[in-house]
Amino acid sequence: MAELPEITKLAGQMKDSLCGKTIQSVILLQEKCSNIPTDEFQKRVAGAKIKDVRNKGKWIITSLDNGENILLSLGMGADVLYFDNENNQAEKYQVKVAFSDGSGYTARFWWFGKFLLVSDAELPSEPNTKNIAIDPFDERFTPDYFLSLLKGKKTQIKAFLMDQSNVSGIGNMYMHDILFKARLHPKKKISDMNGDEIRLLYNSIKDILNLSREKGSFAYESDFFGQKGGYTMDYFLVGYKENQPCPVCGETIVSIKTGSTASYICPECQKL
Ligand SMILES: [Zn+2]
Repeated sequence: MAELPEITKLAGQMKDSLCGKTIQSVILLQEKCSNIPTDEFQKRVAGAKIKDVRNKGKWIITSLDNGENILLSLGMGADVLYFDNENNQAEKYQVKVAFSDGSGYTARFWWFGKFLLVSDAELPSEPNTKNIAIDPFDERFTPDYFLSLLKGKKTQIKAFLMDQSNVSGIGNMYMHDILFKARLHPKKKISDMNGDEIRLLYNSIKDILNLSREKGSFAYESDFFGQKGGYTMDYFLVGYKENQPCPVCGETIVSIKTGSTASYICPECQKL
């Protein structure tokens, strides 16, 4: 599942390789992944140039020079793959964007993904993206900012961090190790956390996500050029390591239910 390290890598690669290219056609084989019919999508983007590609949380926003924006969400996961000419394109896809120079990219969603078209005027009020908070790679994501974000909150810490309107880009995959490294139980209430715990959590978020970014992101996720990242399961501390010993104290790692998600924790290091 793509989270912040994977999304920022993909958005960066898309930016580097697509800016300046002119869209020739868009094919949507699964119309329900979009907000408008295929023919209208095609009409509004044909002939436009790619101006910028950036991420907002787990969304990738491609801005065109005609005032339109393509909003891509990988959902539970997707292969978004560049091709230099059609002979090299992926066999299976639900979305294909072709450029005037013969190159393009395809998207194959594992489950439900989204591929929306939104004008510059509509973008600030777009329901899917308007409430997305800044992500931990954003330079505004400072220790003071994080402290003020948590101030007065009574929510359980995992639920709070999973909510994209509080902090964007973190999903279940990196959460286990983020909380473990901060020695926090997922159900710990924010109101029961002191300043030291919040600072430890801030550092843990930065450390785990930065390490994955440095290693080229998650090893089971393809980038824009079909390459896998270097962040293998060996880097995980307690995440997906049920019944294995805790790397700090040796206690057996367990999986517990936290709302709709599972959490891997060390019951000794992460006491409620
Ligand atoms: Zn432990």
